[in-house]
Amino acid sequence: MLPTRLNNKDVIAAADKCVMCGLCLPHCPTYSISKNEAESPRGRIALVRALHEDKLSPDPALVSHLDQCLACMNCMAVCPAKVDYAKILDAGRDITSQQHTFRHRLGRSLLLAALSKTGVRKFMKGMLRIYHALRMDRLLKKVALRFPHLLRVITLVPRPHRIRSAVPSVPAHLPKKRVALVESCAGEIFSETTLPAAEAVLQALQFETVRFPQTHCCGALHQHNGDPRTARKLIQEFCDTFREQNVDALVSLATGCASQINRYPELLDDPLSAELANRHRDICSFAVEHLERQDQDLQALPQKVFVHVPCTQKQVSDDVHVVEKLLSTIPKIQLETFQDTSACCGAGGLNVLFQARHADRLGKSMISEVMNGGASYLVTPNIGCALHFQAQLSKINAPVVVCHPIQLFARQLIYSGDA
Ligand code: SF4
Ligand code: SF4
Repeated sequence: MLPTRLNNKDVIAAADKCVMCGLCLPHCPTYSISKNEAESPRGRIALVRALHEDKLSPDPALVSHLDQCLACMNCMAVCPAKVDYAKILDAGRDITSQQHTFRHRLGRSLLLAALSKTGVRKFMKGMLRIYHALRMDRLLKKVALRFPHLLRVITLVPRPHRIRSAVPSVPAHLPKKRVALVESCAGEIFSETTLPAAEAVLQALQFETVRFPQTHCCGALHQHNGDPRTARKLIQEFCDTFREQNVDALVSLATGCASQINRYPELLDDPLSAELANRHRDICSFAVEHLERQDQDLQALPQKVFVHVPCTQKQVSDDVHVVEKLLSTIPKIQLETFQDTSACCGAGGLNVLFQARHADRLGKSMISEVMNGGASYLVTPNIGCALHFQAQLSKINAPVVVCHPIQLFARQLIYSGDA
C-alpha cells in the first residue's frame, strides 16, 4: 500500500536539522541571482517547515519561492548538517503544486502524462522527425514570434546533431555479463542516437546489453513536480519490471534518471528498491570503471571539447571528474570545464519551460563561456541541460555540437579519422 502523503513529523524533523549556518547560500544559483533569503536553501527549508506546521498558507509568493528552486541540490552537497533538502523540497511541492493556476496544472499534467506513456513518446518522436525533415522550424518561428510560449517550445527542439556509432564485433566465445540500459523519456524523443552509442561502448567492453522496457518512466519528473504519489506508483512498476529482467547491472543514460533511481530505497519501502539501486550506475561511471580494466583503441580527436557536469551528475557519482576521465582516454582531445564547477544551467526538471526567465539567464552566461573558449563540442550527460544548451546556441547560430559524452566516446571507438 503506497502512503498518500509525506509525513508531517518526518518533514519537520528533516527541516530541524538545518542549523541556519548559511554555508549553502553562496552555492545556490537562485539566491545568487535574487539575493532574497526566501530564494535560498535556508529560506525554503523554513518556508516548508512553516507550511507543515500550518503557520503559513501556500500563498502565491510562497508557491513562487518553491517553484523557482532548480532542484540542483548544490545545497545538499555542501551542507555540514547533512540536511535532506530533496525530501523537504518534495514535501513542500506536494502542497504548493495544488495552488497553481488551472492552466499551469493542466499543462504540467499533460506534459508529464505524455512523457510517461510509450505510445505518446513514439508519436512525438515520429512527429519530430517530420518536423525536422520538412524544416518546419523556420516556418513556425515566423508565426510564433507573436506567441512567446510557442516560440519557446520551438527553440527547445533544435535540429539534433547526429553522432554516428556502430556495434563492434566482439569474440562470441567470451562470457558476458548482462546489462540493461535505461533511456530517459526525453532522451527517447530528442536524442535517439545516445542509446545505440551506449550499446556500442558496452558491447566493446564485452557486456551483453538489453534495453530496459520503456513502458514506465523512473518517476523523476513527477517526483520533482509535486506529484510524489504518481512517482511512487511508477517506482513500484519500475522495480517490478527490474525483477523480471534478470540482469547483472542496470545502467542509466541520463543523470536525471540516475539520481532518481539512487533515491529509490528512500522513496519506496521495498527490499527490491535497495537491490535495484545497488546494481545501478550511470553510463559514464560504469564505462570508466570497466575501462580501467581493459584498454580500448580510440581514434584521435584534436579538438576542443567543453565538459558540462550537470547538477544531477554530482548527485549520482562521488567523482565529479568522471566525464573528463572517460573522454581523456581519447588521444589529442582538449578538454575544458566551466570555471565555476557548481554553476547550474537553470534547465532542472521542467524549469526550462515553467521558469524560463531564470533558465535563460543562467544558461546564457554558461554559453558565453563556451563561445569564449572556442569549443567545437559541448558534452553533457543530462538531456534537459543538452536541450537547453542547444536552444541557446541555435539562437546565436553557434557551430558547437551538443551531445552526450558517450556519443563522442563511441564515435572515436568505432570510426577512423573523421574527427
Ligand atoms: S541547509 Fe545546511 S548549509 Fe544551509 S543553512 Fe541549513 S545547515 Fe547550513
Ligand atoms: S536545490 Fe539548488 S536552487 Fe534549490 S535551494 Fe538548493 S542550491 Fe538553491
